[in-house]
Amino acid sequence: MSKSEAPKDAKARRDFLKSATDRLLETKKQLHREMQGRVKGETEGVKDEGRDTYDLASDERDREINFILNDREREKLHAIDEALDRIKDKTYGICDSCEGEIHLGRLKVLPFTRLCVKCQEENEKESKRQKTLEEERGYRRLVLTDFEEEGS
Ligand SMILES: [Zn+2]
Repeated sequence: MSKSEAPKDAKARRDFLKSATDRLLETKKQLHREMQGRVKGETEGVKDEGRDTYDLASDERDREINFILNDREREKLHAIDEALDRIKDKTYGICDSCEGEIHLGRLKVLPFTRLCVKCQEENEKESKRQKTLEEERGYRRLVLTDFEEEGS
């Protein structure tokens, strides 16, 4: 399914990607700053044999920062990196499922989404169905064979 795109849309998209990249990098920087503040605070508190966090190789510092991250921050950082990668690969804003373009309006609200509205809805329906199925499977384990044979 390839939709031809009006040049105006293509430009809006390019502009959006550019500002999205800036915003993602800025958010990332901000997260790093927050974390570094925390690393510094903790290092000072612990008095770690004169080891200065800021002298560590950046690899090690990253690991240290990673250690201090909470799950939510780690997820966010991961999502940012992924989005940046996707922008680089030109797969950002493309639906993972149907490979159609995700509407700019949606990307603005949900910058990390990987699905278009339609696929997201289907996905949610599907996961709800899966969940229901799993719950039902618990009850139905004993009668599952009958259930399958009937095909209803
Ligand atoms: Zn889709």
